[in-house]
Amino acid sequence: MKKDGLENVRKEPVMVPKWVRGRESIELIAPIAQSIPMLGLGNSVGTGAAGIEADVIVLGSFDDLETRKAQVAGKIVLFNVPFTNYGQTVAYRATGPSRVAPLGAVAMLVRSVGPTGLRTPHTGALTYADGVKQIPAAAIPAEDADRFQRLQDRGVPIRLKLTMEAHFEADAQSYNVVGEIRGRELPNEIIVVGGHFDSWDVGAGASDDGGGCVASWEAVRLMLKLNLRPRRTVRVVLFTNEENGTRGGNGYRDQHQAELANHVMMMESDGGVFDPAGFGYTGPDNGRPTVTTIGSLLKSIGADPILAAGSGADIGPAATAGKIPTMAHVVNGDYFLIHHTQADTIARITPKQMSDNSAAIAVMAYVVADLPWRLGAEK
Ligand SMILES: [Zn+2]
Repeated sequence: MKKDGLENVRKEPVMVPKWVRGRESIELIAPIAQSIPMLGLGNSVGTGAAGIEADVIVLGSFDDLETRKAQVAGKIVLFNVPFTNYGQTVAYRATGPSRVAPLGAVAMLVRSVGPTGLRTPHTGALTYADGVKQIPAAAIPAEDADRFQRLQDRGVPIRLKLTMEAHFEADAQSYNVVGEIRGRELPNEIIVVGGHFDSWDVGAGASDDGGGCVASWEAVRLMLKLNLRPRRTVRVVLFTNEENGTRGGNGYRDQHQAELANHVMMMESDGGVFDPAGFGYTGPDNGRPTVTTIGSLLKSIGADPILAAGSGADIGPAATAGKIPTMAHVVNGDYFLIHHTQADTIARITPKQMSDNSAAIAVMAYVVADLPWRLGAEK
């Protein structure tokens, strides 16, 4: 950032949870012996060195669990729930372990949250409910979940051994990374653009969310390169710890409490790098025609639609505390096929899409920062 000429480049310290995956495996024992691709879920406890060997029961939904709750004691529960959208399907990954533990389940598996890939398991965070026994949890590929379903439907017993070294260590030092182009007239009024700098430990985090970070940073670099200094300050924030704690977003809120009232708008890019498809906007209705007009400048690259709502996990805490208008940078692609997997590498990013996304963010952020009036204060 310093090399690119950004101003006030700094690290803002945040302590983050340190979850360590360790070695992990699933060995199918019956009906045949075979290793199954898997990824432990973030925040999971481990199994102990001996592992957990048990029969598997496959369930299709939480309703199915309710119907068959007497059958899960002593078993490894697999939720085989086909992907609809992230918000819906992720509930099984996030809350499944604490739903089945009180019924005596010894571990939980979830069909990977995402479209069927190439036998690609997806990790991601789980959240244990307070006061409920913590059992180990992992994701298996859709192909294996469907296969276990077929075996169960035919009455074939499934038995496997889950071994996970997963554990927490003491909180670790991390940082939000911040750089700016200072405003020429109203430098204390701030437009934030950014993404999250952390990623899951598998893959490289290129799509989730390296691409969103770089596109946001590049947007500010473009303004500097073109000698376009807007009226207000545009600040790029690369948040830490989105994936297993949101401590970066919470830290930004806490460290910038005094200037939240001066935040005009916060935008997050955390949908991967695909073709730009517009922006979601959540804020005063008065601001909507303004962002719609700005969006129309981006019609040639398809980034003109303004959707009914938009925010992001990292900007959420500050935006809520400061009642700040938010935008989500929206793209059109198969993010959930890639993110949280070994396949999240730079090979999935194309330079043209990266350029288009940087342009879309640059135009929206620059014009909002340069408006003669404050976004949302239109008559
Ligand atoms: Zn993300």
